[in-house]
Amino acid sequence: MAESGGAEALENVPVYEYIDVNSKPFHIGSFRKLWLDALKPDYYSYTETPQEIQDIEFIEEMRIDEETLDELKTICSVERLRCHSENNPPDTDEIPAEPKLATLKLRKRRQDYKKTLLRDHVGRHDAYANEMEVLAVGRKPKDPQDLVPEGELILTFNVLYPVIFERFKYVRPHQTHHVLGSQKLTDLRDAICCVNDLQVFGEFSETPNMVPQFISKDHYKSAFFFFEGTFFNDMRFPECRDISETTREWAKTYDFPEFHTARMEDTVFYDLKVKVGYPYLYCHQGDCEHIVILTDVRLAHRDDCLDSKHYPLLTHKHRVVTRKCSVCHLYISRWVTTNDALAPMNPCLFCDQCFRMFHYDKDGNKLGDFKAYSYVDPGAFN
Ligand SMILES: [Zn+2]
Ligand SMILES: [Zn+2]
Repeated sequence: MAESGGAEALENVPVYEYIDVNSKPFHIGSFRKLWLDALKPDYYSYTETPQEIQDIEFIEEMRIDEETLDELKTICSVERLRCHSENNPPDTDEIPAEPKLATLKLRKRRQDYKKTLLRDHVGRHDAYANEMEVLAVGRKPKDPQDLVPEGELILTFNVLYPVIFERFKYVRPHQTHHVLGSQKLTDLRDAICCVNDLQVFGEFSETPNMVPQFISKDHYKSAFFFFEGTFFNDMRFPECRDISETTREWAKTYDFPEFHTARMEDTVFYDLKVKVGYPYLYCHQGDCEHIVILTDVRLAHRDDCLDSKHYPLLTHKHRVVTRKCSVCHLYISRWVTTNDALAPMNPCLFCDQCFRMFHYDKDGNKLGDFKAYSYVDPGAFN
């Protein structure tokens, strides 16, 4: 690759900056171009090469004749791996009670151990998490127009919990998204769901039925990604502001190198020059900060989800324990009260039903003195 493009090409081939940690910055679009220049189109084509052509190519590459190929096919066939005929398959789970072979002894020990792990209930969440990854594999679009073009890049982004969530600092990422190189940064922004976007501000103890339907996301639309010295601001709506300004002004007074700004909605991932494995920043709602890490850049494969409408594709979502109502311990909390003489603790969480039964008479009059705020449980995303 270096021969064809010289120094400029080398610059865009990712190499480690710190071994096994992160790469040096490289331009994603140029990196893709290097790949497409170096690879034959049928290497990344979605159509599978017919068997006859594969055979001819194999014969040429290995410099063998046709008979040798046939012989190889017979010797290496899956059939040769079977110890019983297909019509009379053995019960592979059946192991003699006292096996003599070391491999069988190991297998029996493993099998006995597995039996002790059996639980009589199904983990619905685990099944769902697994499904999420598997469902999209090899999915083809209904409309051919939506097909992810051959030679498109798929980027994997890990989005971590908000930095203030101390508890989740060391657990798996909150979400993993696959995005297409040709997508805009705003597509990823819209795909990231954070509990802070769903908050409703205000105190509603006097008017619990008046909790507005609009959420923080509708009110405070400004956000930015920070990649390699550039703040990419979301400026799609008239009420959006450049919330990186304070940071940039502050940096100027402390002799930092100058930071740049760009528009999130005008930037596609191919335009980015970034490091793989390096922690970058996504900031929204003024100060809700998430670490964002690009973990993988690769060409789309025929086994990937090929429906571009499904991108950004959510492939992993960490789940958290939901906070239950402190009265019934059954339903997920919807309200949080403070200075509440009726509550066992301060602040205190309630489900909607318990909150109303506890704090209002049958005509809806407020009982006692307390403040009530709407509560969105982080586990609501599970
Ligand atoms: Zn957030
Ligand atoms: Zn309750």
